[in-house]
Parts: sequence; structure tokens; C-alpha cells
Amino acid sequence: MKSKNKCASDILRKEALDFDLLERAKNHTFDYMKNILCQPVFPNNMSLEALNVFREPLQEEHGDPYEIIDLLHKNGSPATVAQTGGRYFGFVNGGITPVALAAKWLSDAWDQNTALYVMSPISSTLEEICEKWLINLFNLPDDSAAGFVGGSSAATLCGLTAGRNTLLNNLGYDVSTKGLYGAPEIRVILGEGAHSTVYKVLSILGLGSERLIKIPTDEQGRIITDYVPELDNHTLLILQAGNVNSGAFDDFETLCPRARNAGAWVHIDGAFGLWAAASEELNHLTKGVELADSWSVDAHKTLNAPYDNGIIMCRNRYALINALHMTGSYIIYSNQRDGMLYTPDMSRRARIVELWATLKSLGKRGISELVHDLHNKAVYFANKLKQNGFEIKNDVCFNQVLVFFSSSHKTELILKKIQDSEECWCGGAKWQNQSVLRISVCSYRTTYEDIDRSVQTFIRAKEEVLKELLLC
Ligand SMILES: *Cc1c(COP(=O)(O)O)cnc(C)c1O
Repeated sequence: MKSKNKCASDILRKEALDFDLLERAKNHTFDYMKNILCQPVFPNNMSLEALNVFREPLQEEHGDPYEIIDLLHKNGSPATVAQTGGRYFGFVNGGITPVALAAKWLSDAWDQNTALYVMSPISSTLEEICEKWLINLFNLPDDSAAGFVGGSSAATLCGLTAGRNTLLNNLGYDVSTKGLYGAPEIRVILGEGAHSTVYKVLSILGLGSERLIKIPTDEQGRIITDYVPELDNHTLLILQAGNVNSGAFDDFETLCPRARNAGAWVHIDGAFGLWAAASEELNHLTKGVELADSWSVDAHKTLNAPYDNGIIMCRNRYALINALHMTGSYIIYSNQRDGMLYTPDMSRRARIVELWATLKSLGKRGISELVHDLHNKAVYFANKLKQNGFEIKNDVCFNQVLVFFSSSHKTELILKKIQDSEECWCGGAKWQNQSVLRISVCSYRTTYEDIDRSVQTFIRAKEEVLKELLLC
């Protein structure tokens, strides 16, 4: 395989058309996918220890590609978290739709850079199409723009940059040339339950943390609208479609018109919850979102598109472009869509291919049904747990369930047992000063049988904890 007088490029060129290598990867992939429902939902200690084989110095010589792919499957696959199976309820992590996986394989071979139309007409075209489809699905203003980024963190960065810059522009201050030196003060208002990525973005944007106005929230985590002070044209108001713990939605119908009338900018963090707008049964939750100025949403959560797939949507196309555009003598903007105008990145992979394939395969009805189905299963999960002595701390309005048993201490012990069970996996959180188990039903792979089986795991964990506490 190795040859002393061949340089690396010669070797790579030869390997580039070695389809047997891709066959090998394909077989490993099929093997992984067939076993995913039996694999521990979180890797066991043996699999975690086997990761040590990767800890080695970078080798001097060219490695054998077959050995590399084999190693990845042998030691890598068992150390994955089985979130594409049916019993993973951690964070808010979606599965992967079959058509998106297939489309991703093809587009991986394309290896397109989506910065500019001239770099990838196909990506530009699909971005343009998906922008229209998303506007239609979420019922947003017709002229809204979409940028395709890695996730909601990046989307929120784009939305809040556009918002900050627009507010300052309206106050006669061009922050993109003058910088923040001596800029008029922007007031930021957000709910106490805002996602930590929002704080991260505000800090990146030079808005810090200690001067933010945090509005108290109700028992579900919704902003109490009476506490929101009078709004004005130097205020960024950040609302939430889907609290990351409870799934609750802020009252957009009350707050968005107030902000519009005052000339404030409203950004909605709808990472997983904005998809409620695409569900006939659940779109009552997002009433009024169309009156905001920018929205962040993930396709890799509720929609089950593969990682990483986030979207920034903005009512005013030029507010987004003005915040994110750049110039350079070699950059060739076109009359077509140039994706980099809408994102912080220049070079970017064609994640739009997977989003397009997922949207096209599900269709409007399919998306509506998918979102509603996740909700129905979350309700079922909550009811089963309630019937078995657990307390449910939130109204299960969307796909999130917060579970408590007897005390924070007991709840934490139960959580540890569930996470070690290999049967199912969920995270924990603090909710109103108590520890809770945090379930997110986010994968189309989850069946009612998966939930029944997981409920059994919860019950077993609870009984073991009670027994152990009695013994000591
Ligand atoms: C997941 C999430 C984020 C962060 O999104 P990423 O895609 O992980 O960057 C922000 N807000 C909420 C409400 C979320 O659920």
C-alpha cells in the first residue's frame, strides 16, 4: 500500500476512486443502523474505555484508509450516543430522516461550498426554494429572508446583530462603520428563562450581561407580560417559542404588537418550538410570532434533519444582509442568491440539501403530523409516569416533560440510574429550585412501545433508589 517514491497527493488520487473503500464504509453504516435499536442508549464503560485507542501521536506516514474506516466503526460506533434510536430523550436532540441521510451522502460527494452562487448554483437554488417553503410553513411575512447556519446559537447571533444594528441605524448611528465606541445605549429585555445561548450571543455583541433586563416568568417559564416595561425604539426584546425545559411559549400576541408600535426589535428564539407553527393542531401556541422581526429555529431538532442545521429568518432582508455582508476584491456577488450574505461564515457546507430533502419528503402535511406526533407521545409519556407515582412539573404543551419524584435528592439519584441504564437516556435540570428529570420527545423513531419500555426503566430506577435509601 505504501510507496516510498509516491507523494501523498499521488496516493490520495489513487484512493479517490477506490469505491471499495466507500462500500466498506457503507457496510459499516448499515451494520450500525441495523444495531442501533439494540445498542446501549449511552455507551457503557467498556466502549468509553475503548476510545483510548484514538489517543495517539499523529503518525508520520500515510495510513491505510481501510484500517481507518474499520477503526472508526470498531471503536467509534459503540461510543456514539444512540440518538437515532427511539429511546433517547436527552437535551432536545432530533433523529435523522432517511431521505436526509441519503441526500447527505450524495451531497458529501459533491462537497460544495455554498458561499456564493458561482461556487454552487445547486445550493443557491435550494436555499432560495427552502426560504420560501419555510416562510409558508411558519406563516411569516412574504418577504422574509432566511440564512442557513449551524444551529440556533448562530441564528440568534445573526438575528440579534441585525436587530442591534437596525435599532442603532434608526437612531442615526451606523455601528458597522463606527463600531460601538460612543454608540447610543441599547436596552435588552428578555425572560428569566432565556436560553444560555442568548446570553452568549449578547456577550459577543458587546451587550454584556449585567445590564440586561430580565423579566420574571410564571410557573411554566413564560414571561409575565405585565412586568415588561414600556417599550421604545432602542429596545431589543427577546422572546421564546419553546422554553428549553418546559417547552412553554411566550405570549407573542400581547408582546409583539406592543413592540412593533414602539419601534422595538423582537427576536424569537424558536429553536425547537417554532415548528409548532407548522402543526395544524399546535399552531395556536405560536399565534403572533409573525409580528416579530427575526426568528431562530433548528431543523436538527423537531424536524429531524441531520446535524448541523439551523436557520435565521428575518422580516427585513436588508437588515440581515447589512449586518452580515462583507467585501473583498475576489468576491463575485451575483444576481442570484449568494448564501454568505445571510450568515456569519463565508465557506459553508451544503446543509441545505438535507433540509430540502426532509421538507420535500415530508410535505406540509407530513411536517404537521410529525410535530403533533412528538407532542402526543410526550403527553403519553407524562401520563404513564404520573400513573406510576411521578409528579409532572409542567403543562406538556409541546414535546418537553419535567418529572419529579418526592425530593430533589431522590430525583437526582433516579436520574443517575436512568442514565446508567443503557435502556433509555434523559437529562436533568433545575426547575423552580428543584431538581427534575427532563424528557424531550424529539425523534420520529420513538414509538409508544419505546415509551412503555422507558417508563419501566424509570419505575425500576425509582424502586431501586427507595430500596437503597431504606437500607442506609
Ligand atoms: C437548542 C436550543 C438553542 C441552541 O441551539 P443550537 O442549535 O444548539 O445552537 C437555543 N435555544 C433553545 C430554546 C434551544 O432549545
